[in-house]
Parts: sequence; structure tokens; C-alpha cells
Amino acid sequence: MKEELIRKAKESQPHLQDIRRDLHRHPETGFDLERTVEKVRQELIALGYEPRDCGKAGLVATVGGKKPGKTFLLRADMDALPLPEETGFDYASQTPGKMHGCGHDMHASMLLGAAKLLKEHESEICGTVKLMFQPAEEIFQGAKDMIDHGVLENPKPDAAMMIHVEIGCAEPLGAFLIPVPGISMASCEQYYITVKGKGGHGSTPHLAIDPITAAAQIHMALQEINSREIDGKDFGVFTTCKVRAGETSNVIPEIVEMWGTIRTVDPTGAMGDYIRKRIEEIAKGVGGALRCDVTVEFPNACPCVIVDEQVSAAAESYMSELVGAESVIRVAEASNGSEDFAFVSHDIPSVNMNLVTGSCQDGYCVGVHNPKSSFDDSVLWKGAAGYAYMAMRWLEDHRG
Ligand SMILES: [Zn+2]
Ligand SMILES: [Zn+2]
Repeated sequence: MKEELIRKAKESQPHLQDIRRDLHRHPETGFDLERTVEKVRQELIALGYEPRDCGKAGLVATVGGKKPGKTFLLRADMDALPLPEETGFDYASQTPGKMHGCGHDMHASMLLGAAKLLKEHESEICGTVKLMFQPAEEIFQGAKDMIDHGVLENPKPDAAMMIHVEIGCAEPLGAFLIPVPGISMASCEQYYITVKGKGGHGSTPHLAIDPITAAAQIHMALQEINSREIDGKDFGVFTTCKVRAGETSNVIPEIVEMWGTIRTVDPTGAMGDYIRKRIEEIAKGVGGALRCDVTVEFPNACPCVIVDEQVSAAAESYMSELVGAESVIRVAEASNGSEDFAFVSHDIPSVNMNLVTGSCQDGYCVGVHNPKSSFDDSVLWKGAAGYAYMAMRWLEDHRG
């Protein structure tokens, strides 16, 4: 099966590249993926699938079921970033201010490649493969929305895998990077602090309550948590990245707004709980002492990605079978980045893999989320084969 899968995946390469470049030219963001979803839907229908809408902009399709067995979920995301592209490629974004700078166009194309391979081998699948095409990964809401709309039910997957492309790294083109069990990616949580004082004239601060001086002291006081309260050997970090206040030079504003991000890699969630509690106590305590009303909200949260021991070991052995052990690299260190596949990984034994699509030694030194991010799409076939082989081999090994 392996040789045939690789041969067929390589045959699909020109088509996968066309799909990827078409998506790349027309990036869409968040849940607003009308064109993208339609493109993926039409490709799936052409392959003989009956894709279903799931949530605001997700698609689900299943293949297999001719032989009894378990269910394996494969996930790809489809959304781009609000980022102006500066690559100069002939297939660069034609939508100003939007770019596939995280490679989700590559993911959608690779999973469509897998869909073709799986359809061609449908009678050999020992169970069912569920394909999850999700929106809104970059805002950490798409996977959750699809879960809320039943993507993990009927049938419930027994294991799951996703691939993310990797660029700007030292590992060679086409290598699969597979995390060891435990946490592979940090949690990500937003905080939003409002400091409300009393507006007034800049010449008479004694008649106002200045929220800017209070916010400045809150900002400095919060650094105590990072530098004085968290053990240096535990990973827990947060940063206020956006502050907004005032309109002009002689008016004390009413409100200061502060937005930030919290990242942790604690499977128990205790580190996140501690940071949230202390941000709230310090912001309210310091702001209150300076006569301001402070509110603290945590509007958007994504947990850590949890890698299952058995699924991770299976991924290592299957990918070694497929592409050779020299192209499979284990990764021991958790990434500071986040990934909303985390929500799937908390329900279903999972693994997230990376496929190197641009090594620094080949000149791909810029990482993702950059206006100059570029991806070598000559290895799309490998991602497609990796997705398909992972699902088929896992189902074969776990057929009752
Ligand atoms: Zn991203
Ligand atoms: Zn991404």
C-alpha cells in the first residue's frame, strides 16, 4: 500500500500545487471563508465525497466504513492572516491586507490530497476516516465552533492528527517533526483590562481622576508576577501588547484599555489560573488605590495542545515506514506558539505534526506570520501521503 500511496500522491502534486496557489491568491480570514470553503467543497464533491457544513464555516467529510473499525480524524485549517503580502510571487495574494502567511493554504491542499488517496483506497480502510476542514484557527475559535456543532460526534473519533507546515527552521525540507507525549504547544489566552477614571482638562488634574497614570502603575506592577512570583523553571509568561488611551494633548481621558496575551505549558492549568487570579488582583488593587474602577476580562482562550503517548508513537513509526526514519525527527520541547487543535486534543487522543516546507539552509529563513513568509510547495504530496497513511495504518492496527 505504501509504495502505491506515494506514487499516487506524487501524481497528484501538480493539482495540489494548483489548489494551494489558487487559495494563496485569494486569502480569506476568520470565519469569512466563502470562496475557500466553496473551493474545498467542490474538490471534495469531485472526488466522490458528500461534505457537510459544520458550524459557521467548517466542512466535514467521511470516507471508509466498508470494513468495520474505529474512526480517525484528520484536521486541516483554511484561514489566512490580516497581513499584507510582500513576497512578490506571481501567485501572491490579490486581496490587499490579507495573506496566507501561516501556510493554511498548504494544509487545505494536503488534506484534499489525502482525501483523494483515501477515496482510491476506500475498500481497504479498516473503519472510518473523518476529514475536518476548519476556519478561524488564527483567532482560536474555529475548532471550538466545529466541536460545538458536533464534529467530534457521529462517529466520535478514536484518535486525531493534524499537520502544520514549518519554515525558517534548521531541519531539512520534507522532514516530519513529531512531538513527544505531553504538551507540544502553549496555551494562549487574551486579557482585556479597562481602567476607568474621570476625564478632565489637562491643566486641572486634581479635578479629574487620571486613568493613564493608574494604568502605567498597573502595567509596572503586573511585571512582579513575571519576575517575582513565577518560578523561573516553569513556563508561564504574559505580555501587555496593546494600550489605548486619550485623543489629544490637553484632555485627560476617561478610560485606558490594555490588551495582552498569557502563555503557559501546564497540563493542570494551574499556572494559567494563578496568572489570571494575580492579574485581576493587582490590576484592581493598584487601580482601586488610585481611585479608578478596573475591570478585567479574559475573552478568548485556547488551551495547551496535549500529545497522546500512543498516537505520537504510532505517528513516529508510520511516518518512518512511509518516508524513512531519517526524515522523522522527534521534538522534545514545547512551542511557545499556540494552536486551536488544542480543543480537539483535550477530547480525543491526538498528535500534531509539522512538515518542513522551507529550511533555513535552503534560503527559507523567515518564519510564519511574516509578510515575506514563503513555503516550498513541492512537498505537498508528502503531506497528503502522511495524512492518509497515518489514518489508514492507525485504523489497521486498531481494528477490534
Ligand atoms: Zn498562524
Ligand atoms: Zn497556523
